[in-house]
Amino acid sequence: MTTTTQRGEDVRDRQEALLGALHTGLFIDGEWREAAGGRRFEVEDPATGEVLTTVADATPEDALTALDAADRAQAAWARTAPRERGEILRRAFEAVTARADDFALLMTLEMGKPLTEARGEATYGAEFLRWFSEEAVRVSGRYNPATDGRSRVLVTKRPVGPCVLITPWNFPLAMATRKIGPALAAGCTVVLKPARLTPLTALLLADVLAEAGVPAGVVNVIPTTEAGATTGPLLRDPRTRKLSFTGSTEVGRSLLADAAGQVLRTSMELGGNAPFLVFEDADVDAAVAGAMAAKFRNGGEACTAANRFLVHEDVAEEFTAKLLEKVRGVKAGPGVEDGVTLGPLVERKQRDKVAELVDDAVAHGARVLHGGEVPQAPGWFYPATVLTGADAGARLHREEIFGPVVSITTFRDEDEAVRLANDTEYGLISFVFTRSLDRGLRMAEVLETGMLGLNSGVISNPAAPFGGVKQSGVGREGAHEGIEEYLETVYVGIADPMA
Ligand code: NAP
Repeated sequence: MTTTTQRGEDVRDRQEALLGALHTGLFIDGEWREAAGGRRFEVEDPATGEVLTTVADATPEDALTALDAADRAQAAWARTAPRERGEILRRAFEAVTARADDFALLMTLEMGKPLTEARGEATYGAEFLRWFSEEAVRVSGRYNPATDGRSRVLVTKRPVGPCVLITPWNFPLAMATRKIGPALAAGCTVVLKPARLTPLTALLLADVLAEAGVPAGVVNVIPTTEAGATTGPLLRDPRTRKLSFTGSTEVGRSLLADAAGQVLRTSMELGGNAPFLVFEDADVDAAVAGAMAAKFRNGGEACTAANRFLVHEDVAEEFTAKLLEKVRGVKAGPGVEDGVTLGPLVERKQRDKVAELVDDAVAHGARVLHGGEVPQAPGWFYPATVLTGADAGARLHREEIFGPVVSITTFRDEDEAVRLANDTEYGLISFVFTRSLDRGLRMAEVLETGMLGLNSGVISNPAAPFGGVKQSGVGREGAHEGIEEYLETVYVGIADPMA
């Protein structure tokens, strides 16, 4: 039998081997290089505060070198046969899958999520490469007579051109492949700027993509500690044709303003404030299982995390009691340890923000039913927490919690539930638990949301168009819609061939 200590030693050995072999430079034009000026920055393990390694810190000059490479590679990549682009993406899917354990360990180390969840992200992230390997050969246009019958309309698609991709730390692999997959399938080259806190996964991905046959210059990766200063020149350069961003609404708004300078195509996957509605006719056990997934996956650090639990007053007591029973079973600890289901938050700032939101809720009348205290252990841990009765003024009703905190509010009828659910600037995802199909479908029409989980707490899927309405974003990722974001539509008007 393997003991926890033996397992700890195994993980430590694997960690050393993995970090020892990892390229930590900038990946530009198919080569690894140091940053101009040679600056590097430290990447930390949020479970311990230990420095894992250092990474080259790209400057604005490096960013432009990366764009030079993407621009040079653009024409040949766009001309590469769709089948060949698809085959390369398929090999990339297989290569990421073959190294899923390495990707998982890196994500756990740099971001904190439990290994089992990181393994799940490795599968989910790889799937975008497979999905878009299949989409690469499905791009088509149309040919039809004009309304007056005297000319013909030919519509074709072509790649947008070099893209700047900016990704967050919470899903270090999947947020990158959800952009790189469709961009490459469409025939676009990319410069990826991963989050400062989690650059290692993106660097391993660059290596794996190159091994899978992605030509030099098609994918360039530039970690940096100066996000705005480094990506700013890219957004002002006329060779850049598109910006795809995943991150907070606050940064997204300012990037939209920057992108306006060149009228760039933009895809914006921004923040959320998901309502989780439990109606009186819900299967309460299913709602509790859904709540655990929608809240505690990724430690609550997900744009899709349930942020406001709105529960009908007739089932609130049963829902709360059953949820508390499950929450008591959450095991917090470093993500590499066996049986851990809740890792640390990503950094001190994030942990402090969660603690602040809970204190604010308590000041607004919330009762703490479980958790709510910052532990004294090293690392940025916050316990699984359940609150009830915070009044409408509490900040956590308006802001993303991004932590393992459930806040329960009751409602009396459907109208009140819908009013509360829609009372937010965000509109990414909503969750609805009801046994009534009519009500479920009605919710899909009245809730201001880009996605709806009907009796389900997790609905992210490469075959589905992911994205939000209102201030949760613009555009969709995944599904067939995902590749359209990287294609331009070209119309050719043809004189009547019968004339
Ligand atoms: P963030 O602070 O907005 O950062 C996201 C990315 O933007 C990071 O790479 C960051 O670099 C970079 N960035 C920050 N300021 C920038 C600037 N002025 N110019 C250019 N780039 C800049 O968000 P985060 O804290 O990493 O991620 C959490 C947020 O992402 C949450 O709001 C969450 O809801 C959202 N999210 C949305 C989706 C979705 O699909 N809708 C998915 C996942 C996450 P640094 O790392 O150097 O700061």
